[in-house]
Amino acid sequence: METNPDSYYIGTIILSILIGLVIVLVLIFIRKIITSILDGVEMTYTFFTNRPAFVHFYLFRKTLTRSQTKILTEQFTFYRRLDAKNQSYFRHRVTTFMQSKVFVGKAGFEITDEVKVLVSATAMMLTFGFRDFSIKAVKNIVIYPTKYFSEVNKVYHKGEFNANLNTLVLSWDSFLDGYRIEDDKLNLGIHEFAHAIHFNCIYQEDINSVIFIDTFNELRALLAKDEILKNKLVSSEYLRHYAFTNDFELLAVILETFIETPQAFRNQFPLIYFKVRQMLNFNFPRY
Ligand SMILES: [Zn+2]
Repeated sequence: METNPDSYYIGTIILSILIGLVIVLVLIFIRKIITSILDGVEMTYTFFTNRPAFVHFYLFRKTLTRSQTKILTEQFTFYRRLDAKNQSYFRHRVTTFMQSKVFVGKAGFEITDEVKVLVSATAMMLTFGFRDFSIKAVKNIVIYPTKYFSEVNKVYHKGEFNANLNTLVLSWDSFLDGYRIEDDKLNLGIHEFAHAIHFNCIYQEDINSVIFIDTFNELRALLAKDEILKNKLVSSEYLRHYAFTNDFELLAVILETFIETPQAFRNQFPLIYFKVRQMLNFNFPRY
């Protein structure tokens, strides 16, 4: 019997495609199994430690220009206190974050390297204990020179996070004011990024978001249950009164207070302090 060379050729192609498909499916299946095993291992680890199994893993590390690094070194205390390895991770994260967001200057404000580096460094400080530091809820960062009139609320604002527009808005003079006095528990950049990170964690399912939200819920439950602690917190005025507006402001003011005065926080309200440290996985010099 004679075989038709054309049909033999087509048969070979179909067979190759089928084998290829099977290999791809098997690889996807193996990858899924490995990922679920690793997830399971990490969940077990997190169950006992309340921390992710690891935070930093980069195939390639980006870095800032020399002048951008100078801005960090001279103007960002948190960065200065890190060891060389963590400083390198931090520069990678600031670079990545800076490149992935759209910065827009309003009312004649010019976006300079200083603006981009300091705003990104604020975000990267808060998420430095997170593996996923991208804060996807923020796509645009809008900066005004000074406080601006919000058409939405018909009042002047120093900053806001608009979840619907994926936009974080800051007034530059107030942002700098936040860092001018580093222990007055007022920091606009930290406050607004706290809102963005909170919102982001509600909608994401990565390990840090889960720890962040679960631990914040524990903190809320603690304050609801322990009236003595809650009263002490309110009457001490250690947290400014605005914190008690709602849960979102509570979280933002707590993070401002935690970052700026960790020692006082730890001494006065250790239970709350350690919850916040766990939420952020914040195990860095002075914390
Ligand atoms: Zn707020």
